[in-house]
Amino acid sequence: MDPIWLVLLLPVAAGSGWIAARYRNAAPGKDASGPPATTAYFKSLNFLLTEQHDKALDVLVQALEEHDEDLEIQLALGGLFRRRGEIERATQLHQGLIARAGLSPEHKGQVLYELANDYYKAGLLDRSENLLLEAAGRKELLEPSLHLLVQIYESEKEWKSAIGVASRLDKLTGGDLRVVIAQYHCELAERELSAGNYPLAQAEIAEALVLDPSCARARILEGRLQALSGNHLDAVGSWSGLVGDHPEMLCEVVHLVKSSSSALGKLALFRGFLDRAIAATGDERLKLILVDHLAASGSEQEAEKVLLKLVNEEASLPALHRLLQFRELDTADSQISADYRLLCQVTGKSLSDRSGYECRFCGFQGRSLHWQCPGCRSWNTTSARPFSAILN
Ligand SMILES: [Zn+2]
Repeated sequence: MDPIWLVLLLPVAAGSGWIAARYRNAAPGKDASGPPATTAYFKSLNFLLTEQHDKALDVLVQALEEHDEDLEIQLALGGLFRRRGEIERATQLHQGLIARAGLSPEHKGQVLYELANDYYKAGLLDRSENLLLEAAGRKELLEPSLHLLVQIYESEKEWKSAIGVASRLDKLTGGDLRVVIAQYHCELAERELSAGNYPLAQAEIAEALVLDPSCARARILEGRLQALSGNHLDAVGSWSGLVGDHPEMLCEVVHLVKSSSSALGKLALFRGFLDRAIAATGDERLKLILVDHLAASGSEQEAEKVLLKLVNEEASLPALHRLLQFRELDTADSQISADYRLLCQVTGKSLSDRSGYECRFCGFQGRSLHWQCPGCRSWNTTSARPFSAILN
């Protein structure tokens, strides 16, 4: 049996004993088949044992609706419906409870919170938000309500509201939400950057860096803002700062560094960055960018030397792919050239079939970098996978 059922049935079993006792006291000499609630309990247990969960739930709901004292079990049932994806059923149950007269403020708060969860699951975020704001008025529901509100504001990309609620939560729990709040500021900075509001973008970046001084995203954004403002040297400086603190992010900025170095007419800056980045990470991707840079600068022989080293020493498939591309172009013999092209297609297909990013928390894989993982909704957990990992 699913452990959830055991948890659920413990209070039911206790409750049924109490109900049975009460029933016996009230009506001695009643039929030996037992009172309705106890009968319902055993009937539902039988359904559970035969894996007929829906029927078991029907019986329990029907029996428990008659007993106000069973609110906790009703709440557990509603939560169970929701976990099973039966959102409408959970919502109906909780709405029925709210409509009951004489609910204590504590119980009303509990039901409101559960209903807010139903609405959240159903995608009715505005309704959920309103109920949570009400439920948060009760001390014991403040923390879970704020947690769910943060999720709602994240879903709706209401970053200012998310900052407000997450800051309250951070103070309340003493948990470390500063890193996450810094990401919300980065979201706002990106929005302002896209709208051309550079001073506002700068203010958001500054806030992010106060909360999380090593925030890679804020430093990438800072460089972008500097580049957009024509301060390419400062921009390269900002991105170069990632070499020491965030080597995993260097592939994300390498093209930005190249672009700003070109704007300055100083490609040597780019080469210097690449050398430092490769020394810090040994990242194959950066080595291949160096190969392209060398080839574009007319140093084909040096480029080929780097590729051969990668193929020989690291059995690098991407390097082999690039080498075949070089050889195909260099070969005058049409038959050999065709063979190279064929091999190149095979290696190219092997490379393109693989995703490039992975969440270290849940394993979600995607082709682009997500600051918030689409799988587990964690922040800052997705980074580029090494080619060697991609090809395994
Ligand atoms: Zn994840």
